[in-house]
Amino acid sequence: MSIEINTEKCTRCKACIKACPFDAIKIEGERLQISEWCTRCAACISSCKFGAIEIKKDVRIVDALSDYKGVWVLVEHKKGKIAPITFELLGAGRRLADELKVSVSTIVIGDEIQTYAQTLIAYGSDEVYLIEDPSLKDYNDELYCAVMTQLIREKKPEIILIGATANGRSLAPRIASRFNTGLTADCTGLEIDPDKKILIQTRPAFGGNLMASIICPHHRPQMATIRPRVMKPMMPDESREGKVIRPNVNIPKQTSVKTLGFLDSFQDGLNLAEADIILSAGKGLGKPENLELLKQLAQILGATIGASRAIVDAGWIDSCYQIGQTGKTVAPKFYFAFGISGAIQHLAGMSTSDIIIAVNKDKDAPIFKIANYGIVGDAVEVISAMIQCFAKKQNHRL
Ligand SMILES: Cc1cc2nc3c(=O)[nH]c(=O)nc-3n(C[C@H](O)[C@H](O)[C@H](O)COP(=O)(O)OP(=O)(O)OC[C@H]3O[C@@H](n4cnc5c(N)ncnc54)[C@H](O)[C@@H]3O)c2cc1C
Ligand code: SF4
Ligand code: SF4
Repeated sequence: MSIEINTEKCTRCKACIKACPFDAIKIEGERLQISEWCTRCAACISSCKFGAIEIKKDVRIVDALSDYKGVWVLVEHKKGKIAPITFELLGAGRRLADELKVSVSTIVIGDEIQTYAQTLIAYGSDEVYLIEDPSLKDYNDELYCAVMTQLIREKKPEIILIGATANGRSLAPRIASRFNTGLTADCTGLEIDPDKKILIQTRPAFGGNLMASIICPHHRPQMATIRPRVMKPMMPDESREGKVIRPNVNIPKQTSVKTLGFLDSFQDGLNLAEADIILSAGKGLGKPENLELLKQLAQILGATIGASRAIVDAGWIDSCYQIGQTGKTVAPKFYFAFGISGAIQHLAGMSTSDIIIAVNKDKDAPIFKIANYGIVGDAVEVISAMIQCFAKKQNHRL
């Protein structure tokens, strides 16, 4: 797609220059020029009353879309374990592949990863590609991208699913740009268009106020990243059979990234995305000191603390605890919302929790619309009562 100015229609009124958020339109002599800073955001088009700005769609059909077949899932793993997001992607990938009547392949890049193959097959993979090398032990953008690019060129998958994790969010756009294809980030839904047999990728847009359905009709592969805890994994079937393939790929010897080590950002040891019980705090807790009470309760219940953006922005707690559209997506068995209003951006990160229990002093707070249980009351009083109650139970058990 390109943006062009029709010099015959342009009156040089300069309205578009003001409208461009990227300072990409310049006057050069008698003419307006769009520079390389243009992001093709299209903001200038409506600013021109003379219809002088034109969007030229570069509809480039790749050689043969029908050459691209199969669904791929990129496996994420850490410290010798497959990350839960992989099984969630596999569950979605299996469903899509069954609809398209094609196979699901998992791609594992790393070192000492051969033991993953049978597990991946049990969870729905038909083929497991193992790309094993000591240099691939730790995640590396450049090396992983080089490996994926070679594999995609050779095998031509039609759909690639990648976790919307820190690594996935970094790798997916690199790969997409190599193939000049689209990438839908942070999908919450994936379907196959029954007529066109293309992927319909759904994700929240405009601050979560509407759901956008995005397609990639003219390029392949169709690529999507999916947030953790949004898709359901399938039940493993140990009797499933699949193929293990060790493809030949060239691994670059040079890389500009060197991993020195890993730091765990969760001091309390529990990963929010994997927690069964989350106690989330909002502005209704009143003051940052009250978080200590919540931590006390979390310790008693073996729960993890979560937060609304309001208290992250207020500096009460680190941003790694934030749940919501611009934070983490979680789906614990129990989600407690203490003093959280239930803004749509918060709900985007926790509404698929099994049981939601909300405490809010406002009986009309939006959080009660999605809560399974609601307590109209003071959050601090409820937390204190819960500490007393569960601490007593704990003492009885000791
Ligand atoms: C682009 C964008 C992205 C965003 N991303 C996120 C995100 O990822 N996560 C997120 O959380 N927000 C996000 N937000 C912010 C979101 O819109 C809300 O502002 C935020 O969630 C509000 O946090 P809160 O409910 O803690 O605070 P408030 O909106 O201030 O609500 C406090 C609630 O506490 C209740 N309350 C007050 N006193 C008490 C009491 N004593 N006991 C019990 N209840 C009490 C009130 O009735 C109220 O419902 C985003 C906003 C935008 C625009
Ligand atoms: S707004 Fe339209 S007419 Fe005015 S300078 Fe820009 S392109 Fe030309
Ligand atoms: S498309 Fe966007 S970035 Fe490009 S010139 Fe117009 S307003 Fe500027």
